[in-house]
Amino acid sequence: AKDIIRGDAVEYTHEIEKETHQRMLMLQGLRKAHAEHELFMVYQPQIDLNTGKINGLEALIRWKTHNGTMIPPDQFIPVAESSGLIVQLGEWIMCSALRDLEHLENRYALGLQMGINISPVQFRHPNFLNTIKTELNKFNLSRNQVEFEITESVAMMDIDTVRATLKQIHDLGAQVAIDDFGTGFSCLSYLETLHFDRLKIDKSFIDKMSNENAGTYIPEMIINLGRDLDMSVIAEGVETQEQVSRLKGLNCFEAQGYFFGKPMDMKSLEIWLDGHIA
Ligand code: C2E
Ligand code: CA
Ligand code: CA
Ligand code: CA
Repeated sequence: AKDIIRGDAVEYTHEIEKETHQRMLMLQGLRKAHAEHELFMVYQPQIDLNTGKINGLEALIRWKTHNGTMIPPDQFIPVAESSGLIVQLGEWIMCSALRDLEHLENRYALGLQMGINISPVQFRHPNFLNTIKTELNKFNLSRNQVEFEITESVAMMDIDTVRATLKQIHDLGAQVAIDDFGTGFSCLSYLETLHFDRLKIDKSFIDKMSNENAGTYIPEMIINLGRDLDMSVIAEGVETQEQVSRLKGLNCFEAQGYFFGKPMDMKSLEIWLDGHIA
C-alpha cells in the first residue's frame, strides 16, 4: 500500500510540474503575443429588445497566433491574472476599447455603451482608478458610455474597499455592471450596499429557458431583483427567438448573444452596423 501511495504522489507531483511548465510557456507566449500584436479586440452587440436596435457593445479580447491558432481568453486570462500581467494587459484593453468606441461615435454617433471586462486583480490594484482616469481623458467620449464589468468574486472582497472603489468610478462618471450574475454563490445582501448600474444574467440560466416553460424561475427572480434595486438587467448568451420572447415576457428588455450578433473585429462590426442601421 505504501508503494501505491508513493506512486500516486510521484504522479501527482509530475502533473503539477507539467501544469506549471505549461502555464510558464503560456505566459511567455502571451508576453510575446502582446509585443508582436497577436492580441486584438472584438465587440459583441447588445440589443434593446423594445426597439431591436443596438445600444451597446461588450469588448472581448482575442489571441490569434502567427500560425493562425486561436487561443481562447478562458485559457490565457487566468495565466495573465496569476502572473500580474493582466494589469498591463488590462490598460491596453481599456485603451483599445475606448479608442474603437471613439471611432464608432465619430462615424455613427449612436451613443453606444462600451462594456469592458475588469479582472479582480485589476480591480484590486492600487493604480486602478488612475488608469481609468488616464484612459478616459485620452478620448472624446461621454463617460456614462463606459461600463466596467466585474464579477461577484470582486464583491466578495473587503466590502468597504469595494464600495469606495465603486463610488470613485461613479464619481468619474462611468458605470459598473455585475457580470455572470447568479453563478458566484455569494450572499445577495451585498447588492443592497454596493451600487451597480446593471446586472448581467449569466448564460447558464438563459440556456435553461430553451425548452417548454421550464427554466424561467431564476431569470425571473434576477429580473425582479434588478428592478427592485433600481438596476438595469441584460441577458447574456441569447441564441434563440424563443429565449427573446420569454425574456420580454419577464420584462427584460436588453440582451446579447449569437442570436443578434457574435463578437466581431472592428472591420466586421462596421459592416454589421452599416446593415443594422440601414
Ligand atoms: P464573459 O465576460 O462572460 O463573456 C461572455 C462570453 O460569452 C464571451 O466568450 C462571448 O464570446 C460568449 N458569448 C456571447 N454570446 C454567446 C452566445 O450566444 N453563445 C455562446 N455559446 N457564447 C456566447 P469569450 O470571448 O470566449 O470570453 C470568455 C471569458 O473570458 C469572458 O467571459 C471573460 O471572463 C474573459 N474575457 C474575455 N475578454 C476579456 C477581457 O478583455 N478582459 C478580461 N479581464 N477578461 C476577458
Ligand atoms: Ca463580461
Ligand atoms: Ca458574462
Ligand atoms: Ca445606469
